[in-house]
Amino acid sequence: MKQTNVDPRAVKPRARGPSAAVMRLMRKMGVMPKISPTERQALEAGHVWIDGDLFAGKANFKSLMSQPYNKLSDREQAFLDGPVMELCRLIPAWEINQTRHVSDEVLAFIKAKGFMGMLIPQEYGGLGFSWLAISTVLQTLNQVSVGAATFVTIANSLSAAELIKHYGTQAQKDFYLPRLASGEMVPCFGLTEPKAGSDAASMEASGHVFRDNDGVVKISLNFEKRYMTLGPVADLTTLACQLFDPGHLLGRVDEKGQPVSDIGITCVLLHKGTPGFTSGEHHMPIGDAFYNGPLHGKEVVVSLDNIIGGVEGAGLGWRMLMEQLAGGRAISLPAGAMAGMNLATTATGAYSMVRRQFNMPIGVMDGIAEKVAFINAMTYMMEAARVGVCSAIDDGVKPPVTSGALKLISTEVGAQAVIAGMDVMAGAGVMQGPSNILGRLYTSLPVGKTVEGASIMTRTMLTYGQGAVRCHPYALRIVKALEADEPAAFRNSLLGWVGHIVLGVGRTARLDVLRGRTGGIPAGVAPQTHTYYRRLAWAAARFGKLTDLALLTMGAKLKVLGMLSGRFTDAFTWMLLAEMALLRFEREGRRQEDLPLLAYSCEYALQRVQEAFEGIYSNWDAPVVGFFMRAVGKQMLRLNSLSHGPSDKLTKKAAATTQTYNEQFLRLNEGTFFPSEDKLGLGRLLKAFRLETESRPVIAKIVKAQKAKTLRRSDIRPALVNDALAGGVIDSAEAQLLHDAYQAMSDAITVDTFEPDQYFL
Ligand SMILES: Cc1cc2nc3c(=O)[nH]c(=O)nc-3n(C[C@H](O)[C@H](O)[C@H](O)COP(=O)(O)OP(=O)(O)OC[C@H]3O[C@@H](n4cnc5c(N)ncnc54)[C@H](O)[C@@H]3O)c2cc1C
Repeated sequence: MKQTNVDPRAVKPRARGPSAAVMRLMRKMGVMPKISPTERQALEAGHVWIDGDLFAGKANFKSLMSQPYNKLSDREQAFLDGPVMELCRLIPAWEINQTRHVSDEVLAFIKAKGFMGMLIPQEYGGLGFSWLAISTVLQTLNQVSVGAATFVTIANSLSAAELIKHYGTQAQKDFYLPRLASGEMVPCFGLTEPKAGSDAASMEASGHVFRDNDGVVKISLNFEKRYMTLGPVADLTTLACQLFDPGHLLGRVDEKGQPVSDIGITCVLLHKGTPGFTSGEHHMPIGDAFYNGPLHGKEVVVSLDNIIGGVEGAGLGWRMLMEQLAGGRAISLPAGAMAGMNLATTATGAYSMVRRQFNMPIGVMDGIAEKVAFINAMTYMMEAARVGVCSAIDDGVKPPVTSGALKLISTEVGAQAVIAGMDVMAGAGVMQGPSNILGRLYTSLPVGKTVEGASIMTRTMLTYGQGAVRCHPYALRIVKALEADEPAAFRNSLLGWVGHIVLGVGRTARLDVLRGRTGGIPAGVAPQTHTYYRRLAWAAARFGKLTDLALLTMGAKLKVLGMLSGRFTDAFTWMLLAEMALLRFEREGRRQEDLPLLAYSCEYALQRVQEAFEGIYSNWDAPVVGFFMRAVGKQMLRLNSLSHGPSDKLTKKAAATTQTYNEQFLRLNEGTFFPSEDKLGLGRLLKAFRLETESRPVIAKIVKAQKAKTLRRSDIRPALVNDALAGGVIDSAEAQLLHDAYQAMSDAITVDTFEPDQYFL
C-alpha cells in the first residue's frame, strides 16, 4: 500500500485532441462524480462481486449459481455444538440485563474456550475459524445476551486482532495475537469522536511525532473518543488518529521529493494504563446491557512500534479500515440482526399456535398469519444472504457494496421482524422479565442501525454512491481516465460505455415487452422458480439502464440526491437478496416444503424493487428526461409491474412453515439456541408448542364431537377435556396429553411479576 499525495494532472502536459476536448466538457458539466482521497480509498478497497452484474444490468445467474454456499467445518460445528451451547446455558441473561455486569465466570469461560480468538490463526493460539463460523457463533450468542456477546463480537471484528493479522509487523503478530486470542488482552476499537461520527475521517485525534529527551523518536497522542464498545474495560485500544510529523523525523517525502509533515490517518495500539490515557467511564447504551464508554488522552506518549505495521503503516490507517470493512460489514452486524430474526421466527411461529383466543390458536387468524409469514420469509432470505456473503468472503472476495447493503438491510429488516413478533405476542411481548423472549433484543434494535455506518447514510449515500462508480462496468474507468488526463483510456472506456448503453437499451426493451422471458434461466434450477429468474433479469436490466441514465443526466449531482440514491439502493439490495434466496433454495436441495418461503421472499423483494423504480421515475431530477419519465415511463412501469407482492394464499403457506413442531420447524430454526424445556421464556414456549402439535389429532376429535353436538362448545380447557373423556370422545392417554399441553401452554403465556422490593431500584 502506497500513498499518493499528488494530482497526476499537475505533472503532465495538457492533453489535446477530440477525446481531450470531450474530457474537458465532461469535467466542466460535472458528468462524473468527483472523488475525495478518503472516498477513493473506500472505492479502491475490496472487490466487485456478483453485485457488479446488477450494476451492469445483466443478472448473471450462471455466476450466481457457481457461488459458494458453505457449511461449517467439522471443527467449527463441534465448537458450536459444544462450547457455544455451553456458554449459552451458562449466561444469566436477565441478570446481566439488570446488573449490567458480565460475571467473571462467564468471562473466564469465554476466554478459556478461545471465543476471543476465533479470527486469529491457530499458529498464534487462535481458533482460525472461517467468517461463516464466526458469524454463526455471534448469531447464537446475541440471542442469549448482547452484553456477553459483545466481548466476542469486538474481539472478532474490526479491532486489534484483525488489523494486526493483516498489517502488523511480525513482532506485533508475535506479541499481540497470542494475548488477544487467550483474552489476556481485551480489545476495543477507537474511531468515533464527538465531532467525527459518520464523517469519521474528519477526526481531531492527533499524534505528533517528536524526539523525546532520551533521543528516541516517539508519538504524543491527544484525543477524545466516545461510544467505544468495551472501552471501559479494554486493555488494548486500536486508536485512529491523524498523524503529524512537523520535524520530518519519519523522513517521508512525496512524489516531488518534498518532505511530508501531514502523514494522515494512522492506527496506533494503545495499552491501558499508559500515562495520560484515561478510560473506565460508561455510557449507558439502550437495550440489552453492554459495556461502552469514552476514552480520553492527553499527551499520551507511545513508541513508533505501536503503529500498526510499524513506521511503514503510518498514514495508511484509513485504507486499512476501509479494506477490512469491505468484508467486515457483512459479519458482526448482520449476525446480530439474524439473532433477532431467528428468535422472532422460532418464538412467533410457536406462540401463534400456543396462544388461543376466540376458541382457536391466534396463528390461524389472517392478521397474525400475515406477520408470521413476513418474519419467516425475511429470515429465510436474510439467512441466505448471511451464508452466501460470508461464504464469498471466506473464498477471498471482499465486496464493499454488498457488505454495506447487507449490514443496512439486515439491521432494518431484522428490526421489522422483531417488531412484527412483538405485535403477535402483544402483552407477553411488552412485559419485561426473564420470561420475555423478544423484549431485550427489541430494545437493542437501534444499536445495529447506528454502528459500522449509520443506516440513513449507508442507504442514501454509501451503497449506491459507491456501487454506481465502483461496480458499474465503465464509470470508475472513466473517472480515473478523467483524473489522470488520459485521452486514450478515456476514449476506450467512453466507447465501451456507449456500446454498453446501446445494447442494454435494446435488451431492457425486449425484457420489458416479454416480461423477462428471454432473461436466461440457469440450467437445472427448479421449474417452479423460473419466474423469479426471469423477473430478476428484467429488473436488473432496468436497474442497469437507470444507472447509466443517472450517471449521464445527473452525474456528480447524484452525491447530494440522497432520496433518489436511497431508492436505487433499495432496488439493488432487494434484487441481491432475491438472488441469495434462490441460491439457498438450490444449495439446500430444493426442498419443496420451503417453496412458500422462497416464493414469498422473491415476490416481496420484486415488489420492493418495483416500488423503488416507481419512486425513481416519479422523482427523476433532470430536465426533459425527468418529464418523460414522470409522464410516460411511470405509467408504463405501473401497467407492467414486476410483482404485486405475495398473494394471501402464498402468505398463509409461508406462515404455516413454522406453525407445526416438526422437522421443517426444527430445520428452519437451526440458527436459534433452544434452551431446555424447563427454562422461562423460550424453553417453556417450545415445550408447549411440542405438546400442542402432538395434541392436534386429539383436539380434532373434540372439535368433531362439538360439531356433532355430542360435546358442549368451549375452548380446550381441563373441564372440557374431562367431559370429552367421560363421554368417550377421547381415551385417558389422550386426556392426559391435553392436560399436559394445557399446563404447558398456561406456563408459556405467563408473564413475570415483581414484588415492590424487586421492582423499585
Ligand atoms: C452502541 C454503539 C457502539 C459503538 N461502538 C463503537 C466502537 O466500538 N468504536 C467506534 O469507533 N465507534 C463506535 N460507535 C460509533 C458509531 O460507529 C457511530 O455512532 C456512527 O458512526 C454514527 O455516528 P454518530 O452517532 O455521531 O451519528 P452522526 O454522524 O451524527 O449522524 C447522524 C445521522 O446523520 C446521518 N448522516 C450523516 N452523514 C450523512 C450523509 N452524508 N448522508 C446522509 N445521512 C447522513 C447518519 O446516517 C445518522 O442517521 C458506536 C456507536 C454506538 C451507538
